Amino acid sequence: MHHVPLYINGEFTQSSTDKWIDVVNPATQEVLAQVPCATEQEMRAAIDSAQETFKTWKEVPVTERARIMMRYAALLKEHHDELATIICHELGKTFEDAKGDVWRGIEVVEQAANAPSMMMGETVENVARKIDTYSYMQPLGVCAGITPFNFPAMIPLWMFPMAIVCGNTFILKPSEQDPLTPMRLVELFEEAGAPKGVLQVVHGTKEQVDQILEAPEIRAISFVGSCGVGQYIYSKGTQHLKRVQACVGAKNHMVIMPDSKKEQLINNLVGSSVGAAGQRCMGISVAVFVGQSKEWVNDLKEALSKVRPGIWNDPEAAYGPQTTLQAKARILSLIESAKQQGATCLLDGSDCTVEGYEKGNWVGPTLFTDVTTDMDLYKEEIFGPVLACMFVDTLEEAIALINASPYGNGTSLFTSSGAAARKFQHEIEVGQVGINVPIPVPLPFFSFTGWKGSFYGDQHTYGKQGVRFYTETKTITSRWFEDDIASGPNMSINLK
Ligand code: NAD
Repeated sequence: MHHVPLYINGEFTQSSTDKWIDVVNPATQEVLAQVPCATEQEMRAAIDSAQETFKTWKEVPVTERARIMMRYAALLKEHHDELATIICHELGKTFEDAKGDVWRGIEVVEQAANAPSMMMGETVENVARKIDTYSYMQPLGVCAGITPFNFPAMIPLWMFPMAIVCGNTFILKPSEQDPLTPMRLVELFEEAGAPKGVLQVVHGTKEQVDQILEAPEIRAISFVGSCGVGQYIYSKGTQHLKRVQACVGAKNHMVIMPDSKKEQLINNLVGSSVGAAGQRCMGISVAVFVGQSKEWVNDLKEALSKVRPGIWNDPEAAYGPQTTLQAKARILSLIESAKQQGATCLLDGSDCTVEGYEKGNWVGPTLFTDVTTDMDLYKEEIFGPVLACMFVDTLEEAIALINASPYGNGTSLFTSSGAAARKFQHEIEVGQVGINVPIPVPLPFFSFTGWKGSFYGDQHTYGKQGVRFYTETKTITSRWFEDDIASGPNMSINLK
């Protein structure tokens, strides 16, 4: 049995814990490896090493730090297929989808290589006579990241490259469900020239996260995961006076105007609702049909009924299994509750298997109409290939429906009208908006800007906000005397 190592002070070491968690292939239930719950002493060793390494790492010129990111991006590209294959085995994604997971992470590493320009401060000459003011963005110290299962390459890469290129050291606690991908990312980071101790990897669950939340040395925590855990981490982390950014759950609506291009709309809706097995925080889970567009529901049903899950290297498979048996059971119970609560099930994926892989956590595409906002299917984040359709008469009603949702991660409008698009993008209370784009995840020169109940914190992940999150601004006011002529003490606060 492969025991996943910890990565402490630049060494891959076996944990001495007696608590291990199985890493399971969700298409077969085969146990691929076991991941440790790090002991208190191992957690402490990682924190101490990160704290010690910070003293030297922060002095490494930003250009050198950026060059490591350039080499790292190149190495990740070289190993793109290999990384994707690891994802396929431990998470069950299709090969193409897994490659996308890696690629969207590589883009963040490329952006991290721009650190010298992103870390520029501001200057004003002559703020008073012969006095100048300028600011620097300096690293914070030890930072930490806690990641979810659904993007085991992309989400760790949202975090540690940005933090480290800014001059911080970093402790990563990957999801215990798929730690093999992040471990390979770390090996490649070392190969790219990252010095010992700059990045540490610890494994575990709540107990290990609690030690991160309580450690006084850790200055900032980036979390991505579910709402409940995110609320806990945000409140406990800030109580311990840390900076915390928490990207959490979602319920994303797509609004369909009757003037949309029908074929493109249907294709985009199918891909964004059931793609990646519905396990995307920016996937579409509610389709809001405006006016006559509701007549397209039958076309949607037909398109979805042709889609089927399968294993990662089946070229016909549209998506893979659910991550765990528990996740599948939860989805099936939400499908059942929707039927009990009066929704109409046009397509039911509850009873789905894949030949030769009958033990896999399969759920087929599922489509509901007659969904109301009080149903669990509407209120809960399903995180599965289940789409709820709702019908409204006007764009205003669609906007009001979305604005009443507690979530605000992503939304999308399909239309041919510039006026409708302008109104929607202006009035909608959601942080990431697509116009004829179903999953508007911003590229990393922007930031990932979820709103409302989908994000707790202030500065968002990656982009300029990511740099601000991982740095402290120092403002210097400076004067150089040219002569030794005394002008008497200055008794006011004004600069003279
Ligand atoms: P999760 O919250 O169960 O786990 C996330 C991380 O928190 C894991 O590393 C896990 O070990 C840790 N954790 C779990 N329970 C904990 C506890 N009680 N205390 C402390 N730490 C704990 O999330 P998940 O199921 O891995 O991921 C799916 C969720 O992530 C979905 O809700 C999805 O919307 C969300 N997500 C959000 C974004 C975003 O950008 N907003 C992106 C991806 C995923």
